[in-house]
Amino acid sequence: SVFQSWPYPPLFLASLASHVLSIASGKSNLIDLQGANREVKKAVEAYWAGKISAEELTKAASEVKKSNWTSIKAQGVDFVPSGDFTLYDHVLDHSAAFNVIPKRYTGHGLSDLDIYFAMGRGRQAEGVDVPASEMKKWFDSNYHFVVPEFSDETDFKLNFNKALEEFKEAKALGVATRPVVLGPVSYLVLGKASKDAKPDFKPISLLPKLLPIYEDLLSALKEEGAEWVQIDEPILVLDVAATLEKEYATAYAALSKVAPKIMLTTYFNRLDSNVKFIAQLPVAGLHIDLDRAPGQLDEVVAAIKPTNIVLSLGVVSGRNIWKTDFDAAIKLGQKAVDALGAERVVIATSSSLLHTPVTLASEKKLTEEQRDWFSFATEKAGEVATIAAVLSGSQAPEVSAALEANKASIAKRRAFEKNSDDAVRKRVAAITDAMLERQSPFAVRKEVQAKHLNLPKFPTTTIGSFPQTKEIRQARAKLGKGEITEAEYEDFIKKEIQSVVDFQEKVGLDLFVHGEPERNDMVQYFGEQLSGFVFTQNAWVQSYGSRYVRPPIIVSDVSRPNPMTVKWSSYAQSLTKKPMKGMLTGPVTILNWSFPRADVSRELQSKQLALALRDEVVDLEKAGISAIQVDEPAIREGLPLRRSDWDEYLKWAVDSFKLSTAGVTDKLQTHSHFCYSDFDDIFPSIQRLDADVISIEASKSDMKLISTFKRYGYSNQIGPGVYDIHSPRVPGNQEIKDRLKDMLTILPDSLLFVNPDCGLKTRGWKETEASLQNLVEGARWARENY
Ligand code: GLN
Ligand code: ZN
Repeated sequence: SVFQSWPYPPLFLASLASHVLSIASGKSNLIDLQGANREVKKAVEAYWAGKISAEELTKAASEVKKSNWTSIKAQGVDFVPSGDFTLYDHVLDHSAAFNVIPKRYTGHGLSDLDIYFAMGRGRQAEGVDVPASEMKKWFDSNYHFVVPEFSDETDFKLNFNKALEEFKEAKALGVATRPVVLGPVSYLVLGKASKDAKPDFKPISLLPKLLPIYEDLLSALKEEGAEWVQIDEPILVLDVAATLEKEYATAYAALSKVAPKIMLTTYFNRLDSNVKFIAQLPVAGLHIDLDRAPGQLDEVVAAIKPTNIVLSLGVVSGRNIWKTDFDAAIKLGQKAVDALGAERVVIATSSSLLHTPVTLASEKKLTEEQRDWFSFATEKAGEVATIAAVLSGSQAPEVSAALEANKASIAKRRAFEKNSDDAVRKRVAAITDAMLERQSPFAVRKEVQAKHLNLPKFPTTTIGSFPQTKEIRQARAKLGKGEITEAEYEDFIKKEIQSVVDFQEKVGLDLFVHGEPERNDMVQYFGEQLSGFVFTQNAWVQSYGSRYVRPPIIVSDVSRPNPMTVKWSSYAQSLTKKPMKGMLTGPVTILNWSFPRADVSRELQSKQLALALRDEVVDLEKAGISAIQVDEPAIREGLPLRRSDWDEYLKWAVDSFKLSTAGVTDKLQTHSHFCYSDFDDIFPSIQRLDADVISIEASKSDMKLISTFKRYGYSNQIGPGVYDIHSPRVPGNQEIKDRLKDMLTILPDSLLFVNPDCGLKTRGWKETEASLQNLVEGARWARENY
């Protein structure tokens, strides 16, 4: 690459990309060499299946790490991150390394590696039966981390200095790296009190006990020759950080004595008033996100100017895939350089590149025009290097050429963005309040629907998908390669639907689904049928553990040329007398799980999606479907990180959902579904959605979540998940009854639906059959006893 030959400019270059290209992502640049990707995913899954040994897994991991380090370095980046690689989740790595291992996972004779995976995904084999730990969304992203559990009993020990080991591993390959660790305050605050903790226990109270562990970890890095360490404290962008000033002061006073130079790293939002105490911390550097919050630059510069703190500018987005506008980034960079001097400025990605795909090089199907719009992780590392070179005053011809090329690309993209779909824009402008409301209030609709759907008390249903088997994926792949015809594929899907319907009859569920066999993914499937989207072949990003998604990219105004699901739902309905629930992904979720446009507001994109879905919902009702679920699992995760920004978001997000569902008659029962959500602080908005039924993930949280619904007097129907579907573990019969018993102490029996936590697509048939059998038995038991 051209970058390789550059003389290093006087300015620091950095890719903050702490998790760049590596970490759990299990992605690497081996793509081109090996014609494969998601190597770590594949290796980890092979290990779980007993097909490769722990040693072979370690070896595969080393290959990916090596490829990541060398390719980032080759892009001209000075600070190559290490320590961020993971086999499952980077937060879980810290818990395993710090001995934050709940007792339920130990004492079974499992290896450390198997304990680690058991914490991540549960384990049910050879007499061991433990559920997975709770997962939560990582800030406002679609990545999930494994939540650490703390109590007064937590016995911190440095089991393994992962940062040190990876630093050494890179060093042995001739790559000097900047290790990355999650900071102690964020680590504790992101965790939760374990079930056996005292009622008033707060994880942050463990800080004095945890700091010595960090001191050991960091001093070992310094001894090994690490010059810098990146310590992530992402909670510094949250409101809660304002209450943690003392803790931050204590922690960083202690750590700075023993650590390499600390680059205190924040991302995903602005620091706001927290910058005042942050600037007083004894750290050598501070990283801020200028992609999400370019407006904070002046304030941060002013606050750190009197100190010696080096400022790392996150000008290349770690969250999106659009080519960086060099001119804009350079302008921000120049401001910082003018105020602080070049020696105090670092150029970086805004956040870890965990949230972006690996490289454009593996996209063979994009048009020339489209390819020119994007940059993925590898290309972003190159952007970081170029921007830093320009700011360092480099006159190298490669640098000027890169600058010119960028100008031309940005100009072409701006020209493309001017093409709007006038019909769609007019329709959005004409949305009225009346279009957001159902014909009658819920109490009236409930009666009408009871007659129409004729469901028993405690109706049982599922969240939509049934196991996506190897056969289904193969059939889709064959269709893609042209090995089977469209008609053959449709026959195959129809058979799948038939067997899902037969299964539901057999097991005795009440409200059926068609099983979603035709969907590669709940967002991609819709994106592919809407206009305004572009698709990739290999742009995978990690969702959790070994699960990856390939977000579509919204590039222009969105509309629905044809019905998207009506054919499948009405076919499914034709096979049974039981009511069939249509299944759609909601506007906010499609938006959040796609890479959005950067030239128009999220609100506009969401409303365009909502109108397209509204037409689909109306068409489904016309086709004889009597219940429709519009999934909005991402509505909570899309919530802005600062409370002061919430109202604006919730207004358009909830309006979008209502717009998509309110075009039907009272007879139609609308459902919505949410994963991992804490509704406590957004409750009025959940009520305002006015879905007839909502299903929520609830099996792993205690009754707190459900109590929230009672406390606020939620009036519509609700199906809190009775078992965890993220693990192959089968919930016992009694377990489900106990769950229902607990729920019924809180929720009125007339409002309760019985369903799993989420869709079943990642599960196998064996556990699905056994689990749903137990679920139906649980509901029958409840009907007899309540
Ligand atoms: N209907 C979707 C499914 O069952 C919902 C998935 C989700 O909430 N993530 O797969
Ligand atoms: Zn879900």
